[in-house]
Amino acid sequence: MEDARSEVRWSPRVTQWKLRNLYERTSAGIWDEDLINDVGMTLYMRCRDILSIHQAETSGEVTCPRCDAAGRTTLIPRRGDRWTPMTCPECGWSLTWVEYHATFHRRQLNPGGAVTSFRTFVAAFERSRDPRGRMLAIDRVIHEFHYSLRELPDQPTRAAGVNLIAGNLTQVEAFLSNLSGMDLPEAFHETDRTWRAKRATIRWDDILEKKRNLRAAAGRPRPSPPPEG
Ligand SMILES: [Zn+2]
Repeated sequence: MEDARSEVRWSPRVTQWKLRNLYERTSAGIWDEDLINDVGMTLYMRCRDILSIHQAETSGEVTCPRCDAAGRTTLIPRRGDRWTPMTCPECGWSLTWVEYHATFHRRQLNPGGAVTSFRTFVAAFERSRDPRGRMLAIDRVIHEFHYSLRELPDQPTRAAGVNLIAGNLTQVEAFLSNLSGMDLPEAFHETDRTWRAKRATIRWDDILEKKRNLRAAAGRPRPSPPPEG
């Protein structure tokens, strides 16, 4: 079982120094194709992993890591409970959900409320071949947010950059704030403005207050009918 577990390998987050280096090149007016592809590929692999986890959690299909390493995609349907072995029909790799879940738990790999953003980046990165297009896709995805509240679907709750950039939430937010101060081309300004505006709306006291009010409104008893007779 230990071997099967060690075959599950999740792509790392991009380091802050590499991303900073990329933005410094960009602010110097250089579209550094090698560096853009390097950072972009790291983010691409990371997003694909997050989407695989999303697929395993929501549609119950686990991507076989052994087949994946061999360059083919095999989806293993989850059956039974958390302790039922999930066995690949192609290669025999086998693990329980409990063991599998432990490989990504608390590793900033949870898709949460940013699935669409990660999916959009994967598609954009595959589609765009020129460095400028890829760089702008990188810029967009690292400035995305999770939207995780059922009651408030348009309320950003957390910077999605923490899923993609090494560091804790506070460090990643500080890093992204520092990027704001760089002299980047015009094409980057809108994303930055949007990020700062949305970030400013994440005030948990206000959000919880809004949630309470919505719940209270939804649960308010209807006016009782007039008594009969
Ligand atoms: Zn397999």
